[in-house]
Amino acid sequence: MIPHLFYYQLVILGLLWLCVMLHLTWPSRAAMSPQKPVEPEPIKPKRKHSIESKPFEGLPQKPPCALCAHEAAHPTPSSPVRPAPIPPTNGRPREVETSRHFCPHPHCDYRGWLGLGNLRANGHPNGGPWRQFHCTACKGSFPEHHGTLFHGKRVSVDRIVHVIGCLAEGLGIRGTARVFEVAPNTVLQWLVEAAEQLQAFSRYVLHDVRVRQGQLDELCALLSAVKAREVSAAEAIERLERSPQWVWVAMDPERKRLLAIDVGNRTLAMAQRVVHQVVQVLAPDCVPLLLTDGVRESLTALLTPYGHWLQPPRRQATGPAPKPRWLPLPQLRYAQVVKTVRRRRLVRVSHRVVFGTLEAVEQVLAACGWHINTAFVERLNLNLRQHVAAIGRRVTTLCKHEAGIRQQLALYQVYYNFCLPLACLRQPLPQPVLTNGTGSAKQWRPCTPAMAAGLTDRVWTLREVLLFRVPPWPPPAGV
Ligand SMILES: [Zn+2]
Repeated sequence: MIPHLFYYQLVILGLLWLCVMLHLTWPSRAAMSPQKPVEPEPIKPKRKHSIESKPFEGLPQKPPCALCAHEAAHPTPSSPVRPAPIPPTNGRPREVETSRHFCPHPHCDYRGWLGLGNLRANGHPNGGPWRQFHCTACKGSFPEHHGTLFHGKRVSVDRIVHVIGCLAEGLGIRGTARVFEVAPNTVLQWLVEAAEQLQAFSRYVLHDVRVRQGQLDELCALLSAVKAREVSAAEAIERLERSPQWVWVAMDPERKRLLAIDVGNRTLAMAQRVVHQVVQVLAPDCVPLLLTDGVRESLTALLTPYGHWLQPPRRQATGPAPKPRWLPLPQLRYAQVVKTVRRRRLVRVSHRVVFGTLEAVEQVLAACGWHINTAFVERLNLNLRQHVAAIGRRVTTLCKHEAGIRQQLALYQVYYNFCLPLACLRQPLPQPVLTNGTGSAKQWRPCTPAMAAGLTDRVWTLREVLLFRVPPWPPPAGV
């Protein structure tokens, strides 16, 4: 039998070994921890340190963008020559407005052109709800809802508009289907068709936009669910890795326009996709001040459209010349808002000017009395959560019904830009307008982001947007 003393010795030896090991590992940890007072460093202004990072050295190659490559491979056909307007005849003046319509027939020279006087209204065939138009150039006719979501559907216009309106206001696909007693697949089908039409509408209306600033942010629905304690963090992250559910939003904070919105992973390819969409909306020579959060991908993605080749100067007289580097355009100003979160709490917000100088960035922001921030796009994210059911705070909606998220975002983009008046954009009326009832006089004119940007002069209804026939090519300049 082994005596107890042996065990005591073993325990003491073990404790000694533990002490020695702790002693060996402790100093290295202490050296890493910032709390240990080392030598009194000269006090530096902390904010300045976080703002001024070391200069960007450039990239050895231009970061490739998948959408740019696709466009280079499949160039969009340029619009054909605009035919001459047809002069009005001497007959009875036309009563029906045809300037918003165009001939859709593929072989007609006047196809897609607005306001050329080639259309005549033919009345309502068989007493139906839709008016018919006749093209005097090709002798063809077409109904006034040709090319819209309503063409070829027997369901009433009101019903489709109400279903799409419900989706735009934030009810989910299944919820909307229950309210209107239609199949969820029907709702999804209408949403897909509406989204396609609305994307074309956005492309037609939002182009050559001039902005001074742009804010870019990504949001994730699952993270908000964690905040609401609906799922555990581990579960959320596990789902996050499986499903690409980052919604990327780019906006103009001054006029509150939603420039681009997309859903996908948090990767470089996705950042490039969003930046590509923003650049397509902007005028070719417009390089706005851009503000994002501290994601590395945004930086590289911005360099694709806003970069150029530059030959670095020689450092030595002999040897091969240094290779050219891909560097940001000199007029590009880009800053990041870096947020440090610990235990779900925001502990620090720092700013980093990446391209351009701090003075140049602050000069742009000073026009609005602002500092470096991404607050406006974050506020927009809150709106987005209320209006797009799939990325709201209900995780079950998100995980089960991924179908249609991109379509719902496309719907929201048009709804937000054209149909929703924003309180912060309202304009005072020159004189108060009396209301019909007993209420106080109206003092403000409601204003949407599209109105603030001068794209339109009224608040559009969803019905008007959905009935808008998008011409296949943009109007010629000056018409
Ligand atoms: Zn025609």
